[in-house]
Amino acid sequence: MLKLSDLNPNRLHIVPLGVGNAFTRVFYNSSMLLVAGGRIVLIDCPTPLRRVLHEASKKAHLEIELEQIDHVILTHLHGDHANGLEEYAYYKLYIAGQQRPHLYTLEENLDPLWENRLKASMGGSPDEPRSLSTWFHSHRWVEERRFRLAESDPDLEFEVRRTRHSVPCLGLKVYFGMYTFGYSGDTEFDADHIEFLSDCDFVVHEAGGPKNHTSLDDLKTLPDDFRAKTALIHVPDDFRYFESDMPVLSEGAVYQVGSGREPVDLTA
Ligand SMILES: [Zn+2]
Repeated sequence: MLKLSDLNPNRLHIVPLGVGNAFTRVFYNSSMLLVAGGRIVLIDCPTPLRRVLHEASKKAHLEIELEQIDHVILTHLHGDHANGLEEYAYYKLYIAGQQRPHLYTLEENLDPLWENRLKASMGGSPDEPRSLSTWFHSHRWVEERRFRLAESDPDLEFEVRRTRHSVPCLGLKVYFGMYTFGYSGDTEFDADHIEFLSDCDFVVHEAGGPKNHTSLDDLKTLPDDFRAKTALIHVPDDFRYFESDMPVLSEGAVYQVGSGREPVDLTA
């Protein structure tokens, strides 16, 4: 088993935890880890979170535990992206005995996240009420500016853009050193969103279409240079692999941004 410190600290790595859509029976729901300079960021938080991490850790030959993850970016509130937040927060406090993790999402998602989702099971008792701030340091991200993680140095920055989805959702760009990574988030096909992602070295785009998502047929219309640096996520179980020149990400593989769109072999 390798340790995270064995990864090149100057490079941005992506470890997909799940690549399936909301109804998958062969994958896990879509989420991934960013690893940069020894920091780990979880992008979306599906269930069963610790099992998903454990499976990816085994496949990657990389030691990854929830104890190491103190930052989560939530693209939106759909269950296949957010259902693991309760497990995450309870585990961090009661099992790991750690500080509250940091949670980053669109400003309009924070109140509904608590009032309409988490409060029912995490709201405490009348004598001992709890709030979102009991469990998370929350951070409101808006468009058209760059953000850093809490307590983090300036070489890792994030920029978000709202997508076209059935609920408020973000796509994002991650800047680390010379390299830029782009993730579509859940979105209908949107030429303006493609433009937002187009200057990235490596793009992960969802392909869960057609309705509220992006279809492979739409992605196939993109320019060669965009397709050549793009891999896919949030795919249906019957995805038409043989019709796509864009690979689907592999769960538990390790991708190095700026080194193509095939996984790197950490054991080589
Ligand atoms: Zn969604």
